[in-house]
Amino acid sequence: MSREDSIAALADALRARIDWERELGAEGYEATPPNRSLPESARPESPGRESAGEVLKPAPTSSVVAPTTDKSKAHALSELKFQLENCTQCALHQKRNRIVFSDGTMNARLAFVGEFPTTEEDMISLPFIGARGHLLNKIILAIEERRETCYLCHVVKCAPGQNALPSQSQVRTCGAHLWQQLRLVSPKVVVALGQTAASFLLETDTPIDTLRGTAVEKNGLQIMPTFSLEHMLNTPASKREVWEDMKKAKAMLQQ
Ligand code: SF4
Repeated sequence: MSREDSIAALADALRARIDWERELGAEGYEATPPNRSLPESARPESPGRESAGEVLKPAPTSSVVAPTTDKSKAHALSELKFQLENCTQCALHQKRNRIVFSDGTMNARLAFVGEFPTTEEDMISLPFIGARGHLLNKIILAIEERRETCYLCHVVKCAPGQNALPSQSQVRTCGAHLWQQLRLVSPKVVVALGQTAASFLLETDTPIDTLRGTAVEKNGLQIMPTFSLEHMLNTPASKREVWEDMKKAKAMLQQ
């Protein structure tokens, strides 16, 4: 990298930090001590889905052996995507315009798993766009990563529609495909965004407020549960807690 490129990269990182500091408010994220969280009494009410603690267990997954070359990995992922484009395993296929498979790179060391696509995402077949995507992009830049070098996807690939949620059995059915995806991509750290993603990946009904911030190894992947982007947008104070979780995820990447 040339000196000019290094300076430009530094300036970009600085801009991202300032942007994220604004997002967090006056104290700034560097001032936040590790493990700080709002006292229980000061926490705003979580939306129903964040605290519901539903048990969402994965359906049995077929044993997928991670391919050894980029070519075989790309081939296996595009085969899986093709299968899902034609998938009718659950009723959500009737509502979809297009499946939302992934964004980013298959060689990512950091993956973000959301819950299910919005109707907006369904139209262009990309996860994390609009306000949620904008917020996630800021978080990624603030930990000095880039969206293009991460892997982004949801547990459920078909949008359930406006104001609708996937059922537990739909989460289980589509979640089996998520495990295939993750085994193929094989990132070092997976950030599970929200109750549905965390409950599914960790096979637990523990509420996300309790789960968040503690990484758990599952099938060879380090899973870091945190709040969903929707929750952060509805409850801005939760961004501070998410930031603590993201700092831990970044430290795990650097180990
Ligand atoms: S949500 Fe998943 S399992 Fe259901 S139809 Fe879509 S791709 Fe298939």
